Amino acid sequence: MNNGRSLLLPAIIAGVAVGAVTGTFFPDTGVKAEFIGGLFLDLLKMMVIPLVMVSITLGVMKMRDFKSVGLKTVLYYAVTTAVSVTIGIFVVSLIQPGGSPEILGTMTDEMRSAAAMKVEGKNAGAEEILKSMVTPNVFMSATEFQILPLIVFSLLFGLALSRLGVKEAEPLERVLTALDGAIMKIVHWVIALTPVGVACIIAARVGKAGGGDALFSMAAGIAKYMLAVIAGLGIHGLIVLPIVLFLFARRNPVAYVRHMSKALLTAFSTASSSATLPLTMSGAIEEAKVSPRVGNFVLPLGATVNMDGTALYEAVAVIFIAQVYAVPLDSTALVIIFLTATLAAIGAAGIPEAGLVTMVIVLSSVGLPLEGIGLLLSVDWLLDRFRTTVNVWGDSVGAAVVDRTSGGV
Ligand code: ASP
Repeated sequence: MNNGRSLLLPAIIAGVAVGAVTGTFFPDTGVKAEFIGGLFLDLLKMMVIPLVMVSITLGVMKMRDFKSVGLKTVLYYAVTTAVSVTIGIFVVSLIQPGGSPEILGTMTDEMRSAAAMKVEGKNAGAEEILKSMVTPNVFMSATEFQILPLIVFSLLFGLALSRLGVKEAEPLERVLTALDGAIMKIVHWVIALTPVGVACIIAARVGKAGGGDALFSMAAGIAKYMLAVIAGLGIHGLIVLPIVLFLFARRNPVAYVRHMSKALLTAFSTASSSATLPLTMSGAIEEAKVSPRVGNFVLPLGATVNMDGTALYEAVAVIFIAQVYAVPLDSTALVIIFLTATLAAIGAAGIPEAGLVTMVIVLSSVGLPLEGIGLLLSVDWLLDRFRTTVNVWGDSVGAAVVDRTSGGV
């Protein structure tokens, strides 16, 4: 590891701290930093579509046994997401954050209309999610930053290339390998800007929330709800996933966290799994030495469809809303929440606050009022950061597990 790289992590940690302090004590200055934070975010996002398309095509094309890797990946996503939703249901039932009737009294008309604006025209169901997987036009999807159909296209393209025979596919494999190398080079340059980028993003976000005082008063009313979300995410991210990593990938969780720390801090700062993807791939493949064939496939796919943190959050939030409105949930309703929260997490894009929108699916499935979302809006930007970090951590652990159990195919 060269000196510049080893200094990067402490610099990012300092960036997070400087951002938080600036936003808390000098909110106006913090808000002014938004412009620079936005530039950094755009640079990261600029790399996402080329990275996803090239790496998935290359990963699938070079994979010797796609069926087995694909199956293991889907199995890992399904089992870990199911475990995280179960933890969410358990924690929120135990803490009962919506148990006190005063909470509903804090709901203002403003909150109601903000909730209505958020969910307007976004009534996504299973059908919509399926539809979002294919596109009539890959270029349109690329311009609209719809990543899921691009993943499907790249997957099919990589599979087709792998069937063409070595002679036909070899020239393209060389081109794609060079493209992949060049994209990762640019990613490294952008990563070098991370300390400044995260400092500005956090300063602006905390500043926008009105600084430290506003932050505390905002949290006061629904502190128990925040506690339930963070406790659930903590159990999943700090206990369950490290155990999975240790048992199935035979890796030391502390060392693995260290390799992934730049990605995790960026996930926390940006609240976007997709924008973080360049760092997730660089951490897992280059630092933690997950085989590129597996990492190139599992990580971009995971950034869009595998969201343990979001799934857990959806379950906690919906049950919280049920508690606030005093709607009893029987075991059938809990099973429906379990299934739809998983679906809502798969359907959520890897962008900020996407989970809040797909929550419509879960709320409507058990007949809860959509306006309940209004109660969560003030703190969602903060909880989004915690759940996005767990989302990225879940993808990273998945890459190591699938890699190990597939013998680095
Ligand atoms: N922001 C999350 C992510 O990018 C999605 C969500 O809103 O839950 O992973």
